[in-house]
Amino acid sequence: MRATVDGSGIVAQSQSALAPFRLYRPESVAEVKAVLAADPEAVIGAGCSDLVARIREGCAPRALVSLRTVAGLAAITHDAGVLRLGSMVTHHEGATSPIVAAAIPGLAAAWSRIATVRIRYTGTVGGNLMARRYRYEMPLLLGALDARLSISDGRTLGTGELWTDDTTALLTDIAVSTADLVWFGYERSMRPTTTVAVAIRRGEDATLSVHATAGSEYRRGISMRADTQVGTAADIDPARTASVLAAQLPADIADYTGSAEYRRHLVGVLARRLLCAAAVATHHREDEPHE
Ligand SMILES: Cc1cc2nc3c(=O)[nH]c(=O)nc-3n(C[C@H](O)[C@H](O)[C@H](O)COP(=O)(O)OP(=O)(O)OC[C@H]3O[C@@H](n4cnc5c(N)ncnc54)[C@H](O)[C@@H]3O)c2cc1C
Repeated sequence: MRATVDGSGIVAQSQSALAPFRLYRPESVAEVKAVLAADPEAVIGAGCSDLVARIREGCAPRALVSLRTVAGLAAITHDAGVLRLGSMVTHHEGATSPIVAAAIPGLAAAWSRIATVRIRYTGTVGGNLMARRYRYEMPLLLGALDARLSISDGRTLGTGELWTDDTTALLTDIAVSTADLVWFGYERSMRPTTTVAVAIRRGEDATLSVHATAGSEYRRGISMRADTQVGTAADIDPARTASVLAAQLPADIADYTGSAEYRRHLVGVLARRLLCAAAVATHHREDEPHE
């Protein structure tokens, strides 16, 4: 019982008590790194919305490094064709940022639909990624966008690498290239069973490629890609391209919410819907590159 954890004190039966823990409030990334190096038990806390859920699940951190007082982690910039999101950007800030909306309108729109109001004001993009939960959506959105994650140990990771990399270092920011981005959209109408994110990019030869991720609450997101021979989103064959993407799902895609055939069908339908939306949305601005 959580209420009997050493030192947690006497609490009402309807409440849980936290065991005492060391709290660090660093003010810079350098100080975070120093704390993590000095205290191997220290766990990073951003908005703590996921951490609280973990504590309810039985996790009892002995030391917490709060990121709330760390300078420079909540910036949003869009320069030289790169949208950069600080790891402490909250869901609300990201979804309502004019910079995000101008750089990747579909990302702002998708971001505005995740979680609840309370969580949107506290939960951060960094926490969503670093929680490494299949049911969280930022790995899917940022995966389709081929985002690069800057880690304080000096490495840059793709979102897919988070599932195999158990680093507990600090995620400082997330970079998304917009220079060759033609369109981005996200379909979550079939959540929790299946969601699909699609980013359309222009290659050096001016033809378009479709980068997609398929997610579900129950398993790791899957990356897919289809190269086209066309130069405008309106010329992409939605049905054919969607089936090329869906065919890339692994054979073991089935889970208890649906057979492999059903999941493949859903991915095909959602991808096709997104590609049709892309054709409409880009119809009048094919010649306007993202800055
Ligand atoms: C009721 C509810 C509904 C939700 N609905 C959705 C939904 O619809 N879609 C969705 O995608 N998500 C949803 N979520 C999840 C929510 O988006 C995440 O809880 C939130 O983004 C986590 O951010 P945080 O800042 O609170 O993370 P925290 O709880 O502070 O941290 C989460 C994990 O990440 C680590 N961490 C945090 N920041 C960093 C960093 N900068 N560097 C390294 N490690 C870090 C922490 O150590 C911890 O392990 C929901 C959550 C709740 C409680």
